Amino acid sequence: EGAINRIAAGEVVERPASAVKELVENALDAGATRIEVTVADGGKTLIRVADDGCGIPPEALPLALSRHATSKIDGSDLLNIHSFGFRGEALPSLGAVGRLTLTSRAKGHEAAEIKVSGGQLSAVKPAALNKGTVAELRDLFYATPARLKFLRTDRAEMQAVTDVIKRLAMAEPFVGFTLSDASGGDTRTIFRADPESGDLFDALHGRLATILGRDFAENALKIDATRDGIRMSGYAALPTYSRGAAVAQFLFVNGRPVKDKLLTGALRAAYFDYLSRDRHPVAALFLDCDPQLVDVNVHPAKSEVRFRDPGTARGLIVSGLRHALAEAGH
Ligand code: ADP
Ligand code: MG
Repeated sequence: EGAINRIAAGEVVERPASAVKELVENALDAGATRIEVTVADGGKTLIRVADDGCGIPPEALPLALSRHATSKIDGSDLLNIHSFGFRGEALPSLGAVGRLTLTSRAKGHEAAEIKVSGGQLSAVKPAALNKGTVAELRDLFYATPARLKFLRTDRAEMQAVTDVIKRLAMAEPFVGFTLSDASGGDTRTIFRADPESGDLFDALHGRLATILGRDFAENALKIDATRDGIRMSGYAALPTYSRGAAVAQFLFVNGRPVKDKLLTGALRAAYFDYLSRDRHPVAALFLDCDPQLVDVNVHPAKSEVRFRDPGTARGLIVSGLRHALAEAGH
């Protein structure tokens, strides 16, 4: 079991940012409205994710840490990306590569905690917590020094963690996020986004102002277009707006952040006539469709997608954006 867990773990947890992603996705799945992430030393010594979601009853804690135990699978779910995560793999994987403590309180239950280290589960013990779940992962890769060696500097790992949080925060504008750095004893806030309100476009606009800045929000065109069962919504910047050489493209498929060449290529094509070579379009775009129309790579750490009909997705992005740019007088 231990060795199997460690192999599976390597697939799911490549670096601190992937652990953060799994834990925050669990918090989102649990219906959290506020998620607080605390990281020390680029996530190498500490990653803590606290949420106010539904919590886990004491008797379910050992199950949450067992391989392939998930409360979320429904059979049809395996090949789509409608719900997050690689089913039932994340927590056992984290428990195999670090020291994981899960403290939780579900409605109508007392708070309890369980620890797992090197794949070994502790007994469930009473704990103190008002609501939700705190997942605390210490000493990532302590048992696998070879993996530890492949990690980058604390600063680079922290940057990757911040990117992951910002992408998830964009996808969930009604949820509040904070990211703190607790390296060296004192805690400082790295990123904070309060829960947005209003309709989805209002909320997203507010969240983008927080993440990309007011000047992006003021230069952003509202995008809402549909083609053959795929809807594209979000905001794209006017071509006159620039973030210099920085790439600021945020793409989501069915609510999940993706990095995909087909989609970024289409984005570039849409702006081709407007932007010089060294400038990048800036946009946050959400593609939503029937999960049957898109496959997610079964590798959990990858964020690639494959549309059944890539031409439709590309055409939607190119024509939807060109139309919006033309309407805005470009
Ligand atoms: P998955 O998310 O694919 O189900 P995980 O290993 O990430 O697998 O989590 C295992 C189970 O633990 C989940 O199905 C869920 O029931 C429970 N769980 C994990 N994190 C949380 C959380 N933050 N709040 C509530 N339940 C959680
Ligand atoms: Mg999960």
